[in-house]
Amino acid sequence: MDQLTSTLSPAVSAFVSRPRHLFIGNRFVPAADGAVRATVDPSTGRHLVDVAHAGEVDVDRAVAAARAALDGEWGSLPAAARGLLLARLADLVEAHAGEFAELEALNSGKPVTANEYVDVPAAIEHFRYYSGWPSKLEGGTIPVIAPDTLCYTRLEPVGVCAQIIPWNFPLMMAAWKLAPALAAGCAVVLKPAEQTPLTALRLAELVVEAGFPAGAVNVLPGDGRTGAALVAHPGVAKVAFTGSTEVGREIAVRAGADLKRVTLELGGKSPNIILDDADVPAAVAGSYEGIFFNSGQSCVAGSRLYVHRSCYDQVLDGLVAATREAAVGPALERGTQLGPLVSAAQYHRVRGYLVDGLAAGATMAAGEVPPVEPSDGYYVRPVIFTDVTPDMRISREEIFGPVLVVTPFDDIDEVVTLANDTPYGLAAGVWTRSLGRAHRLAERIRAGMFYINTWAAGDPAAPWGGVKASGIGREMGRANLDAYLEVKTVWAGYGRP
Ligand code: NDP
Repeated sequence: MDQLTSTLSPAVSAFVSRPRHLFIGNRFVPAADGAVRATVDPSTGRHLVDVAHAGEVDVDRAVAAARAALDGEWGSLPAAARGLLLARLADLVEAHAGEFAELEALNSGKPVTANEYVDVPAAIEHFRYYSGWPSKLEGGTIPVIAPDTLCYTRLEPVGVCAQIIPWNFPLMMAAWKLAPALAAGCAVVLKPAEQTPLTALRLAELVVEAGFPAGAVNVLPGDGRTGAALVAHPGVAKVAFTGSTEVGREIAVRAGADLKRVTLELGGKSPNIILDDADVPAAVAGSYEGIFFNSGQSCVAGSRLYVHRSCYDQVLDGLVAATREAAVGPALERGTQLGPLVSAAQYHRVRGYLVDGLAAGATMAAGEVPPVEPSDGYYVRPVIFTDVTPDMRISREEIFGPVLVVTPFDDIDEVVTLANDTPYGLAAGVWTRSLGRAHRLAERIRAGMFYINTWAAGDPAAPWGGVKASGIGREMGRANLDAYLEVKTVWAGYGRP
């Protein structure tokens, strides 16, 4: 750590210089049983800082703090005041943007420049967008059949929400979850991924500084057991989860048994299509970013590329050339384009897919299988597979690493069938100069999001989410607020005139 801290800014250096605690009721406290877990710098594989690890008792404490907030100061704040707090939080994150970019790079291995241009601004925009909503959440009056009767609706917060997030965009995911829930007036217990709790804990410090009443936001670093305890807790009314389809299924079953509200943003194996009339250089550049951004650790990674046979060679050559030039390196180095994978576990998982793809008969047109054991950071160079058949695991399963499979096609019906041949349905896209073909494909491909001549576009106002095994419900926009609100119908008889 000593060598490392000398290269960090004073703020980040101070943050990682002492153990970090759970955040419950606006206080930072150790776990009830004293448990801690080490965080690791994925760029070096070295120990970073110990973080308290929440168990069931802590889950109880955090849910109780959130309930008390709802029944107390937080629950009685006027809507406009909630908006003001969210706006202040946005300003504070902006004031500390550089620090967040650096801390995220250190803890998750995301390149610091990507954090500066994507993750941190996106988190700020999220808090800012939802800061405008609380004062606009209106119920309605209903023109009912009964005479002398007033019927109206109130929009009320669902209650205490468990929010469980993954490690691939830690700060951004925290913002995506917290902002709509707080705008709706819910109180939250957020569980960051065990590998990447640091930016959520730094955000918690700013929650206090912004002036949020105690208990509105609680942050419980922990593992899958902490998440499961939260999901099962009787005091939790709604679960919002982003992560693997496998865990999403478990959560849906448990939440279903308890009749809790649930939204799930899950995995994908998103098809990206290049038609014969595409602007090929733009399609190559966009498809490259679409899969290799964040080293492929993105739910909307365009991991299956279908290219019309007429431009297949040109596209493949362009992609292979780009991968050769890719700057893979430590997240804090400003020239790095692809950082390390988040953990040794993810390194082994991705490596396993590479070995499996080769064994299944696919050709590795770019990249290499990394060493069996990582030596100094969890680096995997971008890989492109060709000669892939639709039944291969590399073609069907979410790899969550820098791995692209490229397949030629001859006609539109064929590529629609290939694109839809997946249990997932998160994102899809097409590169073409024909508006008609683009919009027809947008209709025919089953996905929650469809990109035309772009990839992974997003905005806090635009719904984000998937169909089929990619999830239930939508993040962002007005749609996500509904997930945190209950509609109460109020009937009032006027009495006899
Ligand atoms: P998980 O789905 O296991 O983790 C996501 C979050 O859920 C983490 O906070 C995790 O805690 C928590 N969690 C794990 N088990 C439970 C449970 N039973 N109940 C409640 N919460 C739980 O993803 P992994 O980190 O294991 O990654 C494995 C694969 O999942 C990736 O390779 C990728 O394919 C996919 N994934 C997809 C993401 C997406 O955005 N669609 C994001 C992350 C992963 P903990 O951190 O302790 O595991």
